[in-house]
Amino acid sequence: MMKEDLAVTNFRNYIRIKTVQPNPDYAACTEYLRGQAKELEAELQVVECVSGKPAVIMTLPGQDRSLQTLLLNSHTDVVPVFPEFWKYEPFSAHKDENGDIYGRGTQDMKCVGIMYLEALKRLKKAGHKFLRTIHLTFVPEEELGGTEGMGQLVKMDVFKNMNIGLALDEGYANTSDKMELFYGQRTPFPIYIRIQGQPGHGSQFIPNNAGEKLRLVINSVLGYRNEQERKLRENPELHLGDVTTVNLTVVEGGVQTNVLPAEIKVTIDARVAPSDVGTFEAKLQGWLKAAGDGITYEARELCVLKEQTCVDDGKNPWWDAFSAACKKENLVVEKKIFPASTDMKYVRGLGINALGFSPLNNTPRLLHDHNEFLNEKVFLRGIDIYYSIILNLANLKPY
Ligand code: ZN
Repeated sequence: MMKEDLAVTNFRNYIRIKTVQPNPDYAACTEYLRGQAKELEAELQVVECVSGKPAVIMTLPGQDRSLQTLLLNSHTDVVPVFPEFWKYEPFSAHKDENGDIYGRGTQDMKCVGIMYLEALKRLKKAGHKFLRTIHLTFVPEEELGGTEGMGQLVKMDVFKNMNIGLALDEGYANTSDKMELFYGQRTPFPIYIRIQGQPGHGSQFIPNNAGEKLRLVINSVLGYRNEQERKLRENPELHLGDVTTVNLTVVEGGVQTNVLPAEIKVTIDARVAPSDVGTFEAKLQGWLKAAGDGITYEARELCVLKEQTCVDDGKNPWWDAFSAACKKENLVVEKKIFPASTDMKYVRGLGINALGFSPLNNTPRLLHDHNEFLNEKVFLRGIDIYYSIILNLANLKPY
């Protein structure tokens, strides 16, 4: 039997740490990452913005500390598992005869965290020096929206002092030969609507009742949903991240069959495309106004993401350096807007360049699914890819 690459062993050990929500073992994870920092001879800081939820920050100082830096971000937590649906124990990091490594976090996104570390170890071993400082952040709580993780970290001086020029974070596994590159993401926009109406007996034609108004609200919201779905279907140039999705997710209200409700509450999960960010809320207000009086809403967007990272050739030196590395590695890269949400929303919210990229191709997309796995060859190839990417980005000349 061939001896296992140490990088693979390292990856499997990281998978075995149960950083699974809702009770991640962050203490064991931090210990593990301390060891990695030591091996890499990186400066280490452990920052607990929220007690018990550590962000581990490693730094490799560059030759010119005045230049903007490169951030390599990954989250340490993983989503829960239903072990009865798994072929192997989800934290055993079992490797089968094909080299497929099974475990929660093999795709999302412990693979990427270890690829960064292993690429850096190899770069250092090969004697490479870096012009720019490289920071690695291993952040908690991403799977719960990051409000107690990256959402807090970006507010701290330690983050501001990093002076980041470009941040890299997760993308998706791609089933084809291609790799997806995400240069923006939609704005998560949860909407909580309260519809008040005239109560009364269920046997009457009571005007101004909540049910009627609910009908009008739903017609508008789901009518818009159909419109956006059609727009996506009819234009092959568009991806999911380019349109806005609105979905009715919660309806609450009413007391009993023969009483008209005084209030009905409706929750909408909206994900607003960058092109709709400036106009979507006015549209929503129009729909609610048209449905009658006594309708209020609260929309707690986590951040507004109109800004995207420029990925046009010749216009953003960071992109050119990233793109040149991809060409050197013969990657077929598809540029897209991320349809869901990652920690980069906080980073992009500060106007920092951010790219979402997981160099995983020819791999079924199993993030958050049962039997999540990654083949060791794909994993090892990812290290080669980051080797080229980091080498280019960390040596990007002042511009
Ligand atoms: Zn993730």
